[in-house]
Amino acid sequence: MIKYDPKSLVAEEFINDEEIRKTLEYADANKDNLELVDKIIEKAKERKGLNHREASVLLACEDKEKTKKIYDLAEQIKKDFYGNRIVMFAPLYLSNYCVNGCLYCPYHQKNKNIPRKKLTQEEVKKEVIALQDMGHKRLAIEAGEDPVNNPIEYILDCIKTIYSIKHKNGAIRRVNVNIAATTVENYRKLKEAGIGTYILFQETYHKESYEYLHPTGPKHNYAYHTEAMDRAMEGGIDDVGIGVLFGLDKYRYEFAGLLMHAEHLEAVHGVGPHTISVPRVKHADDIDPTDFDNSLSDEMFCKIAACIRIAVPYTGMIISTRETPKVREEIIRLGVSQISGGSRTSVGGYAEEERPHDTEQFDVSDNRTLDEVVNWLMRAGYIPSFCTACYREGRTGDRFMSLCKSGQIQNCCHPNALMTLKEFLMDYASPDTKKIGEELIEKEIDNIGKEKVKEIVRERLVKIENGERDFRF
Ligand code: SAM
Repeated sequence: MIKYDPKSLVAEEFINDEEIRKTLEYADANKDNLELVDKIIEKAKERKGLNHREASVLLACEDKEKTKKIYDLAEQIKKDFYGNRIVMFAPLYLSNYCVNGCLYCPYHQKNKNIPRKKLTQEEVKKEVIALQDMGHKRLAIEAGEDPVNNPIEYILDCIKTIYSIKHKNGAIRRVNVNIAATTVENYRKLKEAGIGTYILFQETYHKESYEYLHPTGPKHNYAYHTEAMDRAMEGGIDDVGIGVLFGLDKYRYEFAGLLMHAEHLEAVHGVGPHTISVPRVKHADDIDPTDFDNSLSDEMFCKIAACIRIAVPYTGMIISTRETPKVREEIIRLGVSQISGGSRTSVGGYAEEERPHDTEQFDVSDNRTLDEVVNWLMRAGYIPSFCTACYREGRTGDRFMSLCKSGQIQNCCHPNALMTLKEFLMDYASPDTKKIGEELIEKEIDNIGKEKVKEIVRERLVKIENGERDFRF
């Protein structure tokens, strides 16, 4: 029997099937034990997180009153740690060449319906200009796995191109990378290229399902994929983003697996994941999401987010445009801190006038423009933030975590959010968005803790009005 050990570097030991099964049994046995549920909620109120067993009990508990308590706490923790800021980003698809056989992904090698496309550096430039013209400052680059068409050198060239483009007042200041599991050496190269977060979704933590869903190609190797974040950290990347593709396997199994992965990273590297993403399987060319019979209701999806929020308070949570505005609104309230906006999931999609569908990775459910999303967020009381300061100031990994833990976010992230929003309003916003934004900034300046910081922010806002850019704390 394989023994559970969060400190092990062997996939099946830190994501241990038996431990997950026991966790689910424990959760089933205790989901109606309201005394224990209350105890766990009380522990979560200390804001030091919960382990996978405790959090699994909360997820399984069906009691309405306790569920409300969980939601209220998630909302409160979200407010305490992230205020009302929502960080904005967009995905940039570089290439859909792929040698894997993932059953849920239209880029799988056998799909002959879609044209294969890989951006040239000239095309990357066009995409980046289009993204800058929308107002984006932070990207997540995406590519299929193909050592011949998309080798690491290609990815590095693209990163270089992206950072080099300064169109009007635009700039991409943080490039996160979502590419297949790779070697320590390649992670080191990504680190040297100045990437922000390395993101890799586990897809499913269930080994058997994983192997079934990835029948061919290098991604078939469960251990190599599951141990990728350890290699990334060994290569010097200390901001890593994990996630599962909900719908592929049973959500309770995935939830426990996600938290065990976070516990493992904390135990081995002293720092948990920077972000957790919660994508759900979507319709795409050659992909029917009903082929996977583990879809979950919007309600349960939101509950998962609330439970993640209280289980790992310091970990950012990401939601993409796979979800509808309605689900996004609810899940933002319960814990999400980062969202994409104005996304196009096709290779070369941003430079086109009309949204192209031929190379799309999945159908987008939130088709609004970035301006519309920013407007919507502000009307709902949030501050859309284009801040990228932390990683540029070297506040990554445990240094970022200590910023959170010292409560300095209000004097740092909050003003940065206001200043970057101001840039967006000056350079890209529609008149209505600008009007709402200016009022919001005026109101939110009062929520900066220190008087001195407030004063500096006021000065800088005037400077931004006068054309200067890129201030940060
Ligand atoms: N190819 C890289 C890898 O192997 O990890 C990552 C890039 S891929 C473009 C990004 C993610 O999209 C995948 O990890 C998967 O979770 C997600 N994805 C694939 N097919 C999807 C679908 N039909 N609906 C929603 N998300 C999907």
